[in-house]
Amino acid sequence: MGNYSLVCRSCGERCEGDAYRCPSCGGILNTEYPFDRRDALCSALRNARQYWDYEPFFPIGRECEKVTMGEGFTPLVPAPGIARAFGIRQMSIKNEGLNPTGTFKDRCMSISISKAKALGASAVVIGSAGNAGAAAAAYAARAGIPCYVMVPTSTPPERVAQIQLYGARVILVRGSVTDCIDLIARVYRERGWHNVTTASAYNPFQADSEKAIAYEMAKASGWEVPDWLFVPIGGGGILSGIYRGYLDLFRLGLVKKLPRMVGTQEEGCCAVVNAFRAGRKPAQIERVENPAGIAVAIADAYPLDGETALQAIYDSGGYSESVSSAEILEAQRLLGRTEGIFAEAASSTTLAAAKKLREKGVVQAGDSVACVVTGSGLKDLQLAARHMPRPAEVEIDPEQLNRAVDGMEAAV
Ligand SMILES: [Zn+2]
Repeated sequence: MGNYSLVCRSCGERCEGDAYRCPSCGGILNTEYPFDRRDALCSALRNARQYWDYEPFFPIGRECEKVTMGEGFTPLVPAPGIARAFGIRQMSIKNEGLNPTGTFKDRCMSISISKAKALGASAVVIGSAGNAGAAAAAYAARAGIPCYVMVPTSTPPERVAQIQLYGARVILVRGSVTDCIDLIARVYRERGWHNVTTASAYNPFQADSEKAIAYEMAKASGWEVPDWLFVPIGGGGILSGIYRGYLDLFRLGLVKKLPRMVGTQEEGCCAVVNAFRAGRKPAQIERVENPAGIAVAIADAYPLDGETALQAIYDSGGYSESVSSAEILEAQRLLGRTEGIFAEAASSTTLAAAKKLREKGVVQAGDSVACVVTGSGLKDLQLAARHMPRPAEVEIDPEQLNRAVDGMEAAV
């Protein structure tokens, strides 16, 4: 064991060794760090140059062999054109699309697969909407561990192909991503699989990976904190993870305030937004029947880490907002043509919601905003292609080319 403890959320028991669930009562495990070497922790945060430099904040022992390939440490990109368009002081984009498999889930899987390997896993399994599945498949391939991935039948084919390309065994499930995760829960113990699903209820080892997004953002912006931080909610773990990262920084005295956390979802699948609007307690989030929409990466009927996400939203004085498919596509194109960043549909909910909250007056002109683009738009190519006009086509003929260009210039 390293410098961390696994503590049961239900009975409070501290685990002796590593476990996925509480050995006494089966409860969900939280990680705890003593923070006793304050100076060493602060210098680790100040001097970090790559993701694994944050190891003192991860539940992993020094002796553990790392399965890594340059995940994390993604750029925080200024987006002045978006700031102008929305009428706010500052906008920046944390571009997680630049991770090895195209999403922030590589952070989770670098830790989870390292841990599974250290614990001697003969196979891993994951329920996913496609992003965590691809990340698990890629890191399991590097670790030489067989990987089973359950995804909904509605998963776009390019996502399924990516997972298969990394050599994983894919099974399509006739249901939502929540159904995939529930199904795995009924068989994984019997099959001897390590369940690396990115939900604290199954895999406590991935839950700290997203704290590093906060560490990296703070370091990149000279320890300034945005007034508002927009994060898409699928399972919800990334929002609460980033918030816990800022809490660490605050506790260590590296930042002077905390960001207001905004959880964004699509209208057709917005369990957390519904609970926020009704002022319900985090434990009272209700499952959405028949999730619908284009943001497939966050179409979780029931967000397994929704409780901690909604708690972080309340604690930070934040907000939760849903947007329509049309608003998502509009935001996606705006980000592309204004800043040169291609965000997946799920990630574009952040931009669309920022625009909406600015219009509502929740976000004000003097505010600074950051949006986490959790995944690359290259993972949603078919969706983007469906909504683009057919390009002009010409013979190999300068006259035709000039006519086509003149037509384009006239159209602007
Ligand atoms: Zn327990």
